[in-house]
Amino acid sequence: MIIVLKPDAGEIEIQHIVDRLEKFGFKTYLSKAAERTIIGAIGDERALRDKPLSTLPGVEKVVPILKPFKLVSKEFKKEPTVLNIKGVKIGGKHIAVMAGPCSVENRNMLFYIAERVYRAGARILRGGAFKPRTSPYAFQGLGEEGLKFLREAADSLGMLVVTELMDPRDIDLILKYTDIVQIGARNMQNFRLLKEVGKAKVPVLLKRGLAATIKEFLMAAEYIASEGNNDIILCERGIRSFDTETRNILDLSAIPVIKSMSHLPVIADPSHGTGRSDCILPMAQAAIAAGADGLMVEVHHCPEEALSDGDQSILPDDFDLLMKRVKIIAATLERHVEE
Ligand code: PEP
Ligand code: MN
Repeated sequence: MIIVLKPDAGEIEIQHIVDRLEKFGFKTYLSKAAERTIIGAIGDERALRDKPLSTLPGVEKVVPILKPFKLVSKEFKKEPTVLNIKGVKIGGKHIAVMAGPCSVENRNMLFYIAERVYRAGARILRGGAFKPRTSPYAFQGLGEEGLKFLREAADSLGMLVVTELMDPRDIDLILKYTDIVQIGARNMQNFRLLKEVGKAKVPVLLKRGLAATIKEFLMAAEYIASEGNNDIILCERGIRSFDTETRNILDLSAIPVIKSMSHLPVIADPSHGTGRSDCILPMAQAAIAAGADGLMVEVHHCPEEALSDGDQSILPDDFDLLMKRVKIIAATLERHVEE
């Protein structure tokens, strides 16, 4: 449930309400906005049946949340969340672009691609060091060496790093090098992993599962939030369908639908969403037009030789054009790309 406090509720009153909720076994989450504070309380509401909270000093009203996801819901927080990750903002008027190769293959390619995407306006460098490959015989990533290259390349340009965590046992290693932890589509319902990144208090990029409904996607985000981590970016990256012309169906309607249900920022990944380099520009444009708070794009200097996802990687020159177009579309929507 949500406890909406009166605008003049003071610290002592707030603490009293929190103490009372915790006494009855509730977990509490404070959300302090400019005008007033809201307390989210999760627990068994039957415990409070004959101890009405609405009579406590400072309480304006008590609203039950009927949705299965609570902390990430619009009911808990009306205004869109704007994350500020080391100065790069995502959400609200701010659009953030993550770009780089599918996998970190070696130092040289990463530095070259990083420099090109930075110059075009991307501020977050992506690249996999631990790769979730469909085949166990395919390139699995460079591991820690890849993480080191990512950190070094990003630092040399003043960029942030986003990279995927596949296994809770690698979390400490990944946290040494990255600014944003990516949870991939195949792990969207790996609840152990979600809880670990929830505890880690690091910004999380959560990708939609291959066949996950929007509700399941938001429930996965709720796992992270319920551990006390609200720095979550959702990523629509395409869902499975019957058509084989594209790798997935990039579900652009999910962007406004999620925004009607949740306060979290939502970005789109046209690379995995379509699997086709010729679809990246039009779908990136469409995603921004549909209200996406950012993009994740795979860029490679020589896609035909890429060790993974060459078919969907675009050249740095094509990324230049994409960024130019995205900035124009953003401006028409009174938004801007973070640079
Ligand atoms: C990726 O971004 O490198 C990736 C593997 O994406 P997804 O989990 O969406 O397939
Ligand atoms: Mn990829």
